[in-house]
Amino acid sequence: MRRSDSKSIRAALPGLGRILKHFAPQLRKQKWLLILSFGSLLAEIVLHLLEPWPLKFIFDYILLPNASHKSHHLPIAAALSQLSPSVLLTSLVASIVAIALLGAAAAYFSIVGMALAATNMLTEIRTDLYSHLQRLSLAFHNQAKTGDLITRVTSDIERLREVSVMAVLPLLANSLTLVGMILVMFWMNWELALIAIAIFPWFLFSTVRLTHKIRRVVKMQRQGEGAMAATAAESISAIKVVKALSLHEMLERVFFHYNRKSLRASNKAQQLSAALERMVELLVGVATALVLWRGVYLVLAKIVTPGDLLVFVNYLRIAFKPMRQLAKYTGQIAKATASGERVLDILNTVPDIQDSKGALEAPPFLGAIRFENVSFAYNPEQLILKNISFEVQPGQQVALVGPSGGGKSTLVSLLLRLYDPITGRILIDGHDLREYKLQSLRRQISIVLQDSILFSGTVQDNISYGRLGARFKEIEWAARLANAHDFIMALPQGYATILGERGANLSGGQRQRIAIARAAIRHAPIVILDEPTTGLDNENERAVSEALQRLTYKRTTFLISHNLKTTQSADLILYIENGQIIEQGTHTELMRLNGRYAAMYAIQDKSDLSGKAEGRRLSWQKGSDSEPLHSHCE
Ligand code: ADP
Repeated sequence: MRRSDSKSIRAALPGLGRILKHFAPQLRKQKWLLILSFGSLLAEIVLHLLEPWPLKFIFDYILLPNASHKSHHLPIAAALSQLSPSVLLTSLVASIVAIALLGAAAAYFSIVGMALAATNMLTEIRTDLYSHLQRLSLAFHNQAKTGDLITRVTSDIERLREVSVMAVLPLLANSLTLVGMILVMFWMNWELALIAIAIFPWFLFSTVRLTHKIRRVVKMQRQGEGAMAATAAESISAIKVVKALSLHEMLERVFFHYNRKSLRASNKAQQLSAALERMVELLVGVATALVLWRGVYLVLAKIVTPGDLLVFVNYLRIAFKPMRQLAKYTGQIAKATASGERVLDILNTVPDIQDSKGALEAPPFLGAIRFENVSFAYNPEQLILKNISFEVQPGQQVALVGPSGGGKSTLVSLLLRLYDPITGRILIDGHDLREYKLQSLRRQISIVLQDSILFSGTVQDNISYGRLGARFKEIEWAARLANAHDFIMALPQGYATILGERGANLSGGQRQRIAIARAAIRHAPIVILDEPTTGLDNENERAVSEALQRLTYKRTTFLISHNLKTTQSADLILYIENGQIIEQGTHTELMRLNGRYAAMYAIQDKSDLSGKAEGRRLSWQKGSDSEPLHSHCE
């Protein structure tokens, strides 16, 4: 998706327009800072133009009063010639300091103003981008690359900020200074001005040509660096395999090749930019020589003064030198435009799942759920769920079983409205899900997944993410319900213990129990469990199962499990294969049917008898006596 970095400023212009248009509201908010910054910039330029003038007056009125005819084009000329040389000299010397001081102040305000405006604006845009990303649907996130999205929120925004201060401002300042100087030169003497700008086309030609080369080389250097980083990352992360297969020599050769390539490109780039700078200096030298050659004649002919000639020579140095960086600035702006477009791409993506117009706050659900001919596909070619229909009463437990890849997780994600069905509808308490505001719907559903994700933060924080703002008493209650209180108290700082990224410093069973506490604190009438005990050892499985029984007590529950022993007491078992409900009913009914479910059960039963599965059995007996904690906090 990344546009080519080497794109020229001209090609970037439409993108620049689009970016400015999109961010106009944010720009407008920074109006005053931008006005201050631009005003200071203009002042800085005028002061820049004034810089050589005191020197001119010193020459024309003090050092060589007889050699110069008086500048007729200056209104203050008459006033200056009235002053005594010592007063004049003092004033001119003072004005040099004043010009430098004011110039510095103006430059300071223009840079600070611009930097502040850019930071304010981009902080706002970054926040917008982040919240927009969170709202984009799973369908978008499934396709996007995480690293790429993170780059957009961090470095792309950063580049926009940097470039606005480090490239846009200097580019503007240098261009306006150049224009200002050319105008003043023409005003002073058109013939010398023409000579001075005669080198301009030459200058443009060589800058553009060399810049083009520099960009190509820099791109090559980046490619080399990218390949080098990829090789290093791949081999270091797979170091075991590298050692086992003795691949290190081969990988070292690859690495060496890219390293050399990038080094050569980097040297070339340095060489080219050094050449560009010298070229500009040479051109300024040529222009200075030409101006002096003709200028001295004009001075001798008393058409211009020696001071005027000084101003010309000075302008040549001041104006053209910064222009050698023109290439650098335009390159940076082109890159920033690409970054801006990457940010816009995301901001312009509309979330496919959002509150419909007139969506209502969902009332507290009883938990009656009905799927009516629901079909769904992640991509148009392949239907994942086909015509699913079933009904669950409040507080009932539904088990989804069947071979993996059948569509069980997909089915429950429709209930959460992570995706919308293509056809058919899902009703809760008789109303289509889409009538409700997303947040008010999801608030009433708790989930526990096979590998529950925790966030970095304290244990207490992680549980309270189930219901933000929960009191500590409730958090502790939820932890007790989840069989987590005891192990949490045994942690170094109890509930205040900080968990590593994704809860890495806890065991799988402990993470799971914190996730159950997080689910419990929601007091949601609907609970979704997606293989919550898979991969746990016996002891943890028992603790987790017990906690789950309490969590799901009297709540409409969807349990996905591959272990049919855990699901046999469910009120409704859906045997799903290939996106379809092949069989549905209670365990007894399905066993009597003697179809797919019965066959799967028989296979598991046989392996259970021969194995050690007895201890791993999890009973879904409703009304079991493990419930008493439940009434405490509701
Ligand atoms: P189960 O839970 O029964 O194992 P899933 O609902 O996870 O099945 O997957 C059903 C099918 O949908 C599988 O073929 C899987 O490859 C496909 N699938 C799951 N998630 C996605 C996704 N985000 N994008 C595309 N296809 C998916």
